[in-house]
Parts: sequence; structure tokens; C-alpha cells
Amino acid sequence: MNTKYMAGSFKLMKSLNRSLILNTIREHGQISRAEIAKLTKLTPPTVGNIVKELLEAEIVIEQSQGVSKGGRKPTMLVINARSFFMIGVDAGPASVHVIMTDLNADIVQMHEVPLKPGITEADFLNLMISGIKEVINSGKASTDQIIGIGVAMHGIVDIENGISLFAPNLQLRDIPIKETLEKEFAMIVKVENDARAMALGETWFGNGKDVDHLVCVNVASGVGAGVVINGKLFHGEHDLAGEIGHMCIDLNGPRCTCGNYGCLQTHVSGPAIADRAARDLSLGKESILRDMAGNLNELTGEMLHEAAQKGDRFSIEQFELTGRYLGIGLINLIHLLNPKRIIIGGGVSLAGDYLLESARQTVKTRALTESAKNTEIVLSKLGKNAAAIGAVSLILVELFSTKANQS
Ligand SMILES: [Zn+2]
Repeated sequence: MNTKYMAGSFKLMKSLNRSLILNTIREHGQISRAEIAKLTKLTPPTVGNIVKELLEAEIVIEQSQGVSKGGRKPTMLVINARSFFMIGVDAGPASVHVIMTDLNADIVQMHEVPLKPGITEADFLNLMISGIKEVINSGKASTDQIIGIGVAMHGIVDIENGISLFAPNLQLRDIPIKETLEKEFAMIVKVENDARAMALGETWFGNGKDVDHLVCVNVASGVGAGVVINGKLFHGEHDLAGEIGHMCIDLNGPRCTCGNYGCLQTHVSGPAIADRAARDLSLGKESILRDMAGNLNELTGEMLHEAAQKGDRFSIEQFELTGRYLGIGLINLIHLLNPKRIIIGGGVSLAGDYLLESARQTVKTRALTESAKNTEIVLSKLGKNAAAIGAVSLILVELFSTKANQS
């Protein structure tokens, strides 16, 4: 693998003026040299020189001509999305999902491996490495075009050192993800909490594009949130911000994996939905789930979704109840942060139609002001790939952002 070249490409793109120019081109889709000079306040010769370098490196290409204002039509510059590729990893807790995308986050290759409970830290890292190799070796991009690896890791992440401090669903601690992957692949590696990566991905490519203040809530086997304030991810003092899965919404509620009682995720996570449904069914409620699951202990959130789609009243009501609990969590978020929009992602959001309306209704009934009642609550645009595309966005932030607007 030609690691020297990769490091060189990244460096080439990273000077402040180059980042400024690249970002201006990216934001405008296509733009002329003169317009770039005007917007960036760089001199036309500086713009000309840097654009020349970017053209030679094929990071930028010239495209169809812009509209003329009388004189010669200006040549427009666009980002050459297929000039470089990035790897995004959505790591656990149920599987390791690896994608490779171009600079527009269009996926060119993917690979997914399920995770077994009881996995060790070392096996977890090995699984991640083999998944990444699988995607790199697919031949969809030449290895010297791959510039970085982003990892969206569930649980608490030390983002500066790229260490997974605690992944409660797998009971893993202190996994040196960044160090291990950098050693293995010799390219830039960024690690972030999955919900926060998801929020970043939605900001760059999804339903958060035009919003300054948003919260992206990942509802899966656990629950977490990525908070974006003034267009930037908010981490808090120790990278703990957004752990709303463990916000208490019920003092006497069920015990959570964290040891406390009544956390939001004990009511709305996939396993929580399945547990509650099994409990209610054991009390004699009618549902086609009895035939679908065989054993009530084997009930899953996916089965409830399937049953709901077949019109099973019991399953539909279970999702409506889940939506009400989720709505209580969202109300707390709204009163704390007052976001313009809340984006719901993660596995449970695939049943969005069945729970979103009751979540919205709960917010409408309980929020303090008229504008708070109308806080937009939408589903993730990126769906199943949201965290992986978020992971890719971590590399794009490095690549495109000038220091002033880095997260
Ligand atoms: Zn908890």
C-alpha cells in the first residue's frame, strides 16, 4: 500500500488556504475562480495557483461553463468526488458495518459482520480490521486513493485518543481503536461516538443540512444522541454529552444496563420493546406474535415491526407506547437545548411510522411554548447507513474544514 502518497494527498489538501478554497467549491457545487477569490478574499493569483495544484492532483476538475456576463464564459470548478475514497465503520453493538464512499459519501462498497456477545477487545479489533480489509481489497478504489478511516463507536469514546472507554452493550473497555487501525492501515483514523457521528452525517448529507441547532437521537439496542449547536458537534467536558439513553424518565422503572433504574433506553430500545411485549403477551394479550416467535423469549423488535406491518393491533400499540416514552425523552431535550429539529435514527427508527406520530403528539401536549410544541421531529435520511456515513464525515471534516469551522 502506498502510504506515502496517501499522507501526501491529505497534506496537500490540508493547508488553510486550500481547505478554504476546497470548502468554497464544495459548498457551491460549482464555482468560478473569480467567485472563489471574491468569497474567500484571497488574491486571484493565490486562488489561481492553488486551483492549479488541486487540478493537477485531480481533487478538483473543470466543468461546463457558467453563465457569461457579457465577456468570456468562466470555467467552473467542481470537486472530483471520485478522486478520493474514505472508509466508514459503524462499530456495534450488533454488528460491524464497513462502507467505502467517495467524497460525496456515495457508497461504492460495503461489508457487514455480526457481533457475538462475549467478544473480547482483541477479537473486536481483529473483526474491524478484517472488515476494513475486505472493503479495501474489493478493488472498487485503488489503495492510494483511500485517504482515511472514520469509526462510529457505540458507548463512551475518548475522541482525542480514539479510545473506546466503555461499550456497555458488549461490556468492553479501553479499546485503542485509533492506534490499532493507524498502525495497521497507515492512514488518518478518527473515532467518534455513534450517535454523534450520525448527527454529523445528517448535518453533511442528510436531514440536518440547513439547520444550526439539532439533535440526532439514535434508537437501537441502546439510545444515544448527537448534539449539534451552531453547526458544530457538542462533546461536553469529557465526551459524555448526549448520553440521553440514561436520562431517567421513570424513578421506579426497570433496571438499566448502567445499573440505574428507569433510564429512557429501558423503555424505547429494541430489546426493551421486545421485553415489554413479551411481558404483556404472557398476561394473555392476543397477537400474531405468538405464532411468529414460538418462544416469547425469542421475541425481537424486528418481529414486532413485521407484525405491525401485517396489521397486528397489539404490535402497533406497543410502538405507540414506545413513541410516548420517546416523546417524554424528547421533551426533556427540547426544554434543555431548544433544537430546531430532532432527527431519529437507529434500528428502532425503521419502525418510524408506528412510533413517530405518538412521539410528536406527546411533544405537542407537553412542551412549554407554541414553537417548542412544533419542534420538527423527522426520521434520519441516511437510514441504516447513517452512523457509517457519519464516520466518513469525520474524515471530511478534517479534509474540508478550515480551522475556524472545525467541529
Ligand atoms: Zn441507564
